[in-house]
Amino acid sequence: MFIAQKLYLKLKRKYIISFLAIVMLLLFGGTAYTLNSQIGRIDSVDVRQGEYSKHSYYSPVKDEFISPQEIISNPEQTTGGDPGFRRFFGTSPNAPDFELPKYDLTKKDFSEKPSAYAAYWLGHSSAIIELDGYRILIDPVFDNAGPLPVIAKRMSVSPLQREEMPDIDIVLITHDHYDHLEKETIAFLADKDIQFIAPLAVGARMKGWGVPKDKITELGWDEIATHGTLSITAAPTVHYSGRSYNDRNKTLWASYVIKGKNKNLYWSGDTGYSEHFKEIGRKYGPFDLAFIEIDGWNKGWPNTHLFPEEVIDACRDLNTRLLFPIHFSTFDLALHPWDESIAIVADLAAENNLEIITPVMGEKVIPGITPTTRWWISP
Ligand SMILES: [Zn+2]
Repeated sequence: MFIAQKLYLKLKRKYIISFLAIVMLLLFGGTAYTLNSQIGRIDSVDVRQGEYSKHSYYSPVKDEFISPQEIISNPEQTTGGDPGFRRFFGTSPNAPDFELPKYDLTKKDFSEKPSAYAAYWLGHSSAIIELDGYRILIDPVFDNAGPLPVIAKRMSVSPLQREEMPDIDIVLITHDHYDHLEKETIAFLADKDIQFIAPLAVGARMKGWGVPKDKITELGWDEIATHGTLSITAAPTVHYSGRSYNDRNKTLWASYVIKGKNKNLYWSGDTGYSEHFKEIGRKYGPFDLAFIEIDGWNKGWPNTHLFPEEVIDACRDLNTRLLFPIHFSTFDLALHPWDESIAIVADLAAENNLEIITPVMGEKVIPGITPTTRWWISP
């Protein structure tokens, strides 16, 4: 009896251990699978070296795309707290302490035929631009900005949910960072009648998530894609790319000049300040409107994003009539209060007689006509 009981307990323990091992394996396997699929595919070295070596901004030796300015990292000069990756797992201490105003959008809020000229900012760098009766969806991100749901949580819910998107003509992607390129959204749109425009080598990610090759237009800097009356030109930015530990700069990043029949717009993408703004202003300006990234700056990474003063300098260099600030209010990327950048940029714009448009998230505006407010000031 005693021996039988001992044997039973031994077997039970064995089964429990095996069961736990299987659960652990499944969990680990599931997480690895999710991670892998979120990262997405990239081209092979041979494809990159074969196709991109003709560009001055691709180094076949390093097998990397090259920023017009080397990206500087000064960890010891970081302000605002610990810059380590750990911070992306928690709740941000810099998040707003009141609910941000926003217009929650549903399909019904969009006209069947897109306007001749209008814009909806959807938080951070996601937006819809309507131009010449076409609808362009830029860097659509509706959830968090990391490869797993627990990483880089949103500070506010998106005013538009993926399922409520209206019909889209063009999806425009600036680069493959998680706060600009969201796998679920690309997969959701993959079978729709849409032209996907992205910088060189980003197409492999989208193909991996189900977008047919013939729907993807990849652009190098100063290359143009057309869509009806629109012409969309990719232009340089000082930045970098990557979604994993081993794919830095294997894909290109870009800003865009979006030209319609009567309007000439600029979308900054992510960028540090450099001569490229003057050159883009000379080549493609003047602009009726420039969407410029304003948040994410830190002395620890001084040329990955624009400092507020540089936002104003960039507008001057580009020769734009109107500034539309983007890349704020949604993710805490740079260890400063969520509203610091927009407050400074709005004051600087006023001091410099630069017209600025600051709609709340989800609001439809006709730039230059619809009045907007300083909605970030707590009620
Ligand atoms: Zn970025």
